[in-house]
Amino acid sequence: MSRTHPELRTPPALPDGGLRVIALGGLGEIGRNMTVFEHAGKLLIVDIGVLFPEEHQPGIDVILPDFTSIRDRLDDVVAIVLTHGHEDHIGGVPYLLRERADIPLVGSRLTLAFIEAKLKEHRITPVKVEVAEGDLVEFGPFDLEFLAVNHSIPDALAVAIRTAAGLVLHTGDFKMDQFPLDRRITDLRGFARLGEEGVDLFLTDSTNAEVPGFTMSEGELVPAIEKVFRTAPRRVIVSSFASHVHRIQQVLDQAHAHGRKVAFVGRSMVRNMGIARDLGYLDVPDGLVVDMKVLEKLPADQVCLVCTGSQGEPMAALSRMANRDHVIRITEGDTVLLASSLIPGNENAIYRVINELTRWGATVVHKGNAKVHVSGHASAGELVYCYNIVKPRNVMPVHGEWRHLRANGDLAIRTGVHPKGVVIAEDGFAVDLVAGRVRIAGKVPAGNVYVDGETVGGATEAHLKDRRNLAEEGVITVVAIVDADTGMLAEPPDFLARGFAHDEKTFEAVVPLIEKALAKAAEEGVGGATQLEQLISRAVGQWAHRSGRRSPMIIPIVIDA
Ligand SMILES: [Zn+2]
Repeated sequence: MSRTHPELRTPPALPDGGLRVIALGGLGEIGRNMTVFEHAGKLLIVDIGVLFPEEHQPGIDVILPDFTSIRDRLDDVVAIVLTHGHEDHIGGVPYLLRERADIPLVGSRLTLAFIEAKLKEHRITPVKVEVAEGDLVEFGPFDLEFLAVNHSIPDALAVAIRTAAGLVLHTGDFKMDQFPLDRRITDLRGFARLGEEGVDLFLTDSTNAEVPGFTMSEGELVPAIEKVFRTAPRRVIVSSFASHVHRIQQVLDQAHAHGRKVAFVGRSMVRNMGIARDLGYLDVPDGLVVDMKVLEKLPADQVCLVCTGSQGEPMAALSRMANRDHVIRITEGDTVLLASSLIPGNENAIYRVINELTRWGATVVHKGNAKVHVSGHASAGELVYCYNIVKPRNVMPVHGEWRHLRANGDLAIRTGVHPKGVVIAEDGFAVDLVAGRVRIAGKVPAGNVYVDGETVGGATEAHLKDRRNLAEEGVITVVAIVDADTGMLAEPPDFLARGFAHDEKTFEAVVPLIEKALAKAAEEGVGGATQLEQLISRAVGQWAHRSGRRSPMIIPIVIDA
């Protein structure tokens, strides 16, 4: 397997007849999946997702892939293929369409319906090309074939990409549930047929590559979910992803069987379930789903609420219920069912919500204490099956952190793929497929682009560092009125501090240090406001560090008198 290449530069032009693959996101992270394929002067994009921020990225809404490397070539983009409707695969689409709105979006019916609803909020009407498994569609030099895959959202597709450079198979997110609710299983026969034809490059979902064995079937959750509905003394409040149509189908089935009515809570839940129902992906018995107002009048043991917030997202319904910031008040005897995964990085937030809900008297059922969740991703056993069926020449693990990518690559090698044919790439790496061989040809920018309120790309790593520093160390503002003639303080400086432990006397010790610094500056003829501000900042910073081992942010303001 290839190792890291920290010194990589901008890749040279792609050799004639070659195929270049660049993941602008999704490698070394779980989220913002985006892969750009280049061939014969044209570009094909597979997925444009977002990544959700972690605790060390305060104030950030979502993180996008960096479009810098394709920005000058948007006219060469022939299509954006969307493998499925999860946010980490479609959430970034509006931001690229803002730059060129008429790039065709290619995807299944449900995927296109989800992205269309999202684009409406951005006031963009997309060009859509609906496809289904078995379809063959041509975009420029890329011949695409779509295959059914099973995942934690209905209507997911894998895509085979045929070019003069060879045949690529991209699984998207997938698993091999043999008994899914919709009976639509991953098309291993199609995978095998492509394997017979000869897959030159196989891009596979790495998320669960470290998990041994096989991912459980969605159907295996029935007993635990049934038990919740059978035994809950009062209301049942279910939280799940707003896209997990099959999980919510299970909830609806049990609610129906146990004589409860259901209301959807939260904008994305209401919107997505409406779409899924209209398109026939969600089967809702007549009269089961009712308005909140109707639900409120029913006895508690006939009530089921389905809401968002299973990841502890602070603005989602469940967190707000936990914080007593929602019209729905959790009371003694309520049962909360978290029918979802626990995405790494969200643990603290989720356990905080679980604790608060428990404190208000709810019984919380979650994957830690009941079998109420199965993953949407193939485990090691399934991946090995795929490698043995497809027999790819080259493999590029995608969708995962480093440990997942490496584990996936190791599985490929164990099934007989040559180690040189397994490429562990990072975001931005240009992986060239030329004459049937892969090699890393260079690197393009692929850093984080932060969406911060209405601004895209305005917030930088430096801003986040400032925010973390402010949170941990506080801030001191020093207002110094300096006599323009002498360069000395005209009066004692004013100190304003926030988040920095202080009293009236705290800053007395720093005044002589500022005076000393100003005297030295005057002596050396340094008098510009900016320079004096830097000197004051340094003097206060050194003092804070020496006296209390603190490093607050310091904002010096020098006013000429
Ligand atoms: Zn997914």
